[in-house]
Amino acid sequence: MSFSQLGLSDKVLAAVKAAGYENPTPIQSEAIPHVLARRDVLGIAQTGTGKTAAFTLPMITMLETGRARARMPRTLILEPTRELAAQVQENFEKYGVGQKLNVALLIGGVSFDDQDAKLTRGVDVLIATPGRLLDHFERGRLLLTGVELLVIDEADRMLDMGFIPDIERICKLVPFTRQTLFFTATMPAEIRRVTEQFLSSPVKVEVAKPATAAATITQQLVKCGREPHEKREMLRRVIRNTTENFKNAIIFCNRKREVALLHRSLVKHGFNAVALHGDMDQPARMAALDKFRKGEADLLIASDVAARGLDIPDVSHVFNFDVPFHADDYVHRIGRTGRAGKSGTAYTIVTSADQKAVAAIEKLIGQQIPVAPSFGKPDSVEPEEAPVRTERPRERQRGERRRGSHSPAPTAASPAPVARIDQARRRQQTAADLEPDHSHLPAFLLRPVRVKA
Ligand code: AMP
Repeated sequence: MSFSQLGLSDKVLAAVKAAGYENPTPIQSEAIPHVLARRDVLGIAQTGTGKTAAFTLPMITMLETGRARARMPRTLILEPTRELAAQVQENFEKYGVGQKLNVALLIGGVSFDDQDAKLTRGVDVLIATPGRLLDHFERGRLLLTGVELLVIDEADRMLDMGFIPDIERICKLVPFTRQTLFFTATMPAEIRRVTEQFLSSPVKVEVAKPATAAATITQQLVKCGREPHEKREMLRRVIRNTTENFKNAIIFCNRKREVALLHRSLVKHGFNAVALHGDMDQPARMAALDKFRKGEADLLIASDVAARGLDIPDVSHVFNFDVPFHADDYVHRIGRTGRAGKSGTAYTIVTSADQKAVAAIEKLIGQQIPVAPSFGKPDSVEPEEAPVRTERPRERQRGERRRGSHSPAPTAASPAPVARIDQARRRQQTAADLEPDHSHLPAFLLRPVRVKA
């Protein structure tokens, strides 16, 4: 099937052509005609299937007629995170070129007044996270009675994040007669209940879920000690040894606190890294993502929640700093690489505490993940591993004589770093290796101790 058979407007077809898409993806060819026929749609699909265009393209076609009134959005899209909301907005910009479409974003971390001014002017498409939408509504700045179409995207993520009560409330605030498009990757009981309550005879469109990891991804386990500093040291070693086909990598941690810690540590060790976690404000998150997407940063450290659903094409490597709690998350994480037939590599650092979680992953993907060969000797010394010893000059001379006076003292063995780390950064890295990394220590431990004479 081609795009021209789906019933989309000429302007939208031109935009699709300009985007370089040749054929609709399965979810697009199945859902778009039903959306245009004003049916409710229950789409079971996950990120990477082209589901965003499956609702944005017919929405733009439908919005070509009619006008928005002040404070009364014509359509409403609910997204679980700010980044996803911003990503959907970008889709409207891309596919709505040459159209007079007013799109507004209601997300946390952005000025309330600017958002309010936009609403006053009237919006065709309102993209929002549930909490911020309800804030505006409660202040009386927004009327939801003009909503003709409601999209609930990533519903199972909304469930994970505790947004279902908000979603139910919003569904009751929009007109009963609206059209509803509902997208979810999985169908837990709670989601089924919501769809039964708020969708009216929906057309169910399901696209195959990649139950197993893509065959294009090479997966390996990296065995390591349990202490966080041992894991950080191992990660650096793995990254520095990963020269083949390395372009960039996403590093996943289970907790946002760990994301921040690991980011500080990697930067200190000279890596060009950015972080993405829930405690960062919106501009900082966008800036980090933008840097990574443009190739200005090699490494993106993220938590599952922060990175969920983000469309970052062309990632060559995924490193799991922590084994994910849920086996499903492992498939999502490594699915960030090896996209569109390209090859990708995923390394997972495992400790003796992770045996159960690894077994669950292997059961889900139906294969055993091989253990990677050794990554050489430790690359650096962090203070917790072994305090940096200051030799006295005489001892150093003796040592040098033993080692041969011209050979350099055996500093921390540093195997070939990632090709993109240049000389200057390597020098900085060596300095950082010797500098105590206190980022993991609570502040009170760093305070000087007064000793009574
Ligand atoms: P999504 O599942 O909506 O996150 O989309 C994943 C990626 O697929 C995005 O980068 C889209 O630009 C791209 N995409 C969407 N539809 C098509 C299509 N018909 N052909 C090729 N790429 C597409």
